[in-house]
Amino acid sequence: MDNPGQLFIISAPSGAGKSTLCKALLGRFPDLLFSVSHTTRCPRPGETNGIEYFFTTKEDFVRGIEKSKWAEWAEVHGNFYGTSAEFLDKKLKNGEDVLLDIDVQGTIQILGRYPDSTTIFIMPPSLDILRSRLASRKTESQEVIEARFANAEKEMAEKHRYRHVIVNDVLEEAIAELISLVETCRSARNQEVNAKS
Ligand code: 5GP
Repeated sequence: MDNPGQLFIISAPSGAGKSTLCKALLGRFPDLLFSVSHTTRCPRPGETNGIEYFFTTKEDFVRGIEKSKWAEWAEVHGNFYGTSAEFLDKKLKNGEDVLLDIDVQGTIQILGRYPDSTTIFIMPPSLDILRSRLASRKTESQEVIEARFANAEKEMAEKHRYRHVIVNDVLEEAIAELISLVETCRSARNQEVNAKS
């Protein structure tokens, strides 16, 4: 147990319902901290700097890579995304539990740094359902939707890297499964801490 805080990583292909699940999880555990990533992607309508993401320029992001600012970073769908190493290290050392919503490439890097992270992969019930969920979003062009779908298939092929897989078919059931999983991990950690003290 390197850090008193626990790290939860959630990954999913675009359209699997990850954002909704993360919101539900954060609503249930108000002391679980969401790690706001840095990205070079443009904000979507309704997104606010510092809430969904810290929106940054490619120059600043690359400078961050050079200065080892990122605990992990990846290029996803043509944009850069990264997690602040300073934020993560500080919060975990301080005993706070942190939730990361990152892709598979980022998860592999984080596991190198924090091997006892809890990794959770969210699957859509089927590829057909995933495609129709992506198409119904209306916030992206057909080209972007196709690129995200192709990337989704690649990501799903990596789900074996995750300790837990949740299929988001019925939303309420997926939320309940996720909450129960996090609850179990947190109480196991508490027992571990109590046993040591
Ligand atoms: P979106 O642009 O739709 O918000 O996110 C696209 C993808 O980037 C999602 O799979 C999301 O999990 C991933 N992502 C978001 N933030 C990070 C990050 O900091 N690092 C990595 N590796 N992936 C991220």
